[in-house]
Amino acid sequence: ASVNECFDISFKVMLLGDSAVGKTCVLVRFKDGAFLGGNFIATVGIDFRNKVVTVDNVKVKLQIWDTAGQERFRSVTHAYYRDAQALLLLYDITSKSSFDNIRAWLTEIHEYAQKDVVIMLLGNKSDMVAERVIKREEGEKLAKEYGVPFMETSAKTGVNVELAFLAVAKDLKHRA
Ligand code: GDP
Ligand code: MG
Repeated sequence: ASVNECFDISFKVMLLGDSAVGKTCVLVRFKDGAFLGGNFIATVGIDFRNKVVTVDNVKVKLQIWDTAGQERFRSVTHAYYRDAQALLLLYDITSKSSFDNIRAWLTEIHEYAQKDVVIMLLGNKSDMVAERVIKREEGEKLAKEYGVPFMETSAKTGVNVELAFLAVAKDLKHRA
């Protein structure tokens, strides 16, 4: 058996956010340490990937679900939310609409997700400095308003991707 199949506790994590914010790329970066540009991944699509991380000597398996083609929040089924223990909610720092839609996503999440669900807000594509339209402070302010942690990530460079998943794993482990 591979090292990855060995774990102590397991959690279901879901990636949410508008289409094209980089959900699939963030997952591939975390799982494989790679970035495939263009539309390759978007076309192929993936369902979920497992990755085991170690938190305080405990092996935590994250079963991370991608959402492809169900990004419009209205069409993500409520059952899909219900059994997720953590939600990573992404916007794209170069897309104002993806940021504005975060409030709608959070409303939906608070209505249908588990009450103790671990939520983290991620502003992705932080490498695109010239195209940025959402300031880091705006992301921080929104996260603070909803009482959720926040990071800016880049699936392209890998900045903060592992840290974000580790923070979620740590939170899940401490709540278990
Ligand atoms: P999804 O629809 O949310 O799954 O988004 P994708 O992962 O398919 O990414 C959408 C597009 O954004 C693709 O062309 C990716 O190459 C690009 N992309 C995703 N993440 C990043 C990032 O961190 N930086 C840059 N520069 N491009 C990214
Ligand atoms: Mg995708």
